Amino acid sequence: MTARILVVDDVPANVKLLEARLVAEYFDVLTAGDGQSALAICERTPVDLVLLDIMMPGMDGFEVCERLKANSRTSHIPVVMVTALDQPSDRVRGLKAGADDFLTKPVNDLQLMSRVKSLVRLKNVSDELRLRAQTAQTIGLQELARPDRPDEPGNILLVDARASSQERLVRALKPIADVSVITDPQAALFEAAESSFDLVIVNANFDDYDPLRLCSQLRSLERTRFIPILLVTEQGRDEMVVRALELGVTDYVMRPVDPNELVARSLTQIRRKHCNDRLRASVQQTIELAITDDLTGLHNRRYLDNHLKLLMDRAAARGRPLSICITDIDRFKYVNDTYGHDAGDEVLREFANRVRATVRGADLACRFGGEEFVIVMPDTTPEMAAIVAERLRLAVESGAFPISRTDTLHSVTASLGISSLRADGDTPEALLKRADMALYQAKNNGRNRVVAAAA
Ligand code: GH3
Ligand code: MG
Ligand code: MG
Repeated sequence: MTARILVVDDVPANVKLLEARLVAEYFDVLTAGDGQSALAICERTPVDLVLLDIMMPGMDGFEVCERLKANSRTSHIPVVMVTALDQPSDRVRGLKAGADDFLTKPVNDLQLMSRVKSLVRLKNVSDELRLRAQTAQTIGLQELARPDRPDEPGNILLVDARASSQERLVRALKPIADVSVITDPQAALFEAAESSFDLVIVNANFDDYDPLRLCSQLRSLERTRFIPILLVTEQGRDEMVVRALELGVTDYVMRPVDPNELVARSLTQIRRKHCNDRLRASVQQTIELAITDDLTGLHNRRYLDNHLKLLMDRAAARGRPLSICITDIDRFKYVNDTYGHDAGDEVLREFANRVRATVRGADLACRFGGEEFVIVMPDTTPEMAAIVAERLRLAVESGAFPISRTDTLHSVTASLGISSLRADGDTPEALLKRADMALYQAKNNGRNRVVAAAA
């Protein structure tokens, strides 16, 4: 993981110390000795994370943080406040100023690295999301273009053996999430797999159970491996924490738990989970857009080209029938020429609706191009296909097509050609070709009819 980190502190020795540790982990480090120059750097160059000292002459850390968060060009940069251990009130003020997390001085190596990595990971996914939203906006896809949204409440599963700590942790987390509490770690694994949580918090306080076993099981189950895990452990259990992080635990806090720290870390994890979910949804949506016809919402030709072969192979392997139907609207050019292109588009949309209403869920309906549509019908004999095609023909002929708010067309018809899978070897091209020949025949025979290709 590489990222550019800005270290801000008025004491050069502190800057040097953090810089050396981060450079050793191959981070790209920038430094600033005061608030003004920190702000200037963030404006000028892309920064992935700011480590911010609080006590500085002139502008203090709180103000720097507030300004970064108030500026739309820098508000997405995570800020980690570096506070003195004996100043818990600083943490509250830091969070109010918009800080994403804090570290206490003297900064412990393990904490520094786990926090920095955790926030850099979060920034990476949200950067990707912002980039996609931008692209979506550029190409006019409003539904994909969702800029940073306000935090949605998260769902947390708290696994904790003791009633007293359960109560304390729930109280801290209530303002930011719905918390479900479970005492038995094995039951927790099932619960996590069954429901959809944004974060699992594992309090390492079991009498005779290794909490890392649960963490590792959560990481290996398909249904839970994307859920962030936050481990709560005893002070001084660095070894356990190192092992936990290696296992894929996302972050940790030490007891006694500072409620503000717990809230900040939980929020970071919940945000990342939400970001990741949206990213996955956007990938899904992009795929759908690539295989969908804009005008009608049916699958497009690209999808048919890829999918027909698969459906044919499957039918052949199982010895099942498969039929296809190509349909083409009759004299469609006349509709365009007489009523205009927009009216033509309306007819195409309505035609697609009637195709959709005619086919079964297992059938694949595509716009093949222009005013031509293809329906692939798995498990369908030539006789059945002829019945379906006739039903569609009738549905087109018998109902009027709206072409504007006031006008309708009564004379829309279509011709249809069908063909079926040959048992002795067949290809998508040949199958489509036979249906196309049948369609050509239907047109020649006077249109508004179904013709089946010879077997
Ligand atoms: P036939 O009965 O022989 O099929 O006659 P036809 O007029 O339907 O066939 P032809 O291929 O001559 O014309 C098809 C027309 O469909 C021409 C083209 O402009 C129109 N068309 C193709 N795609 C679209 C579209 O997306 N929207 C609209 N409005 N028209 C389209
Ligand atoms: Mg200072
Ligand atoms: Mg036509």
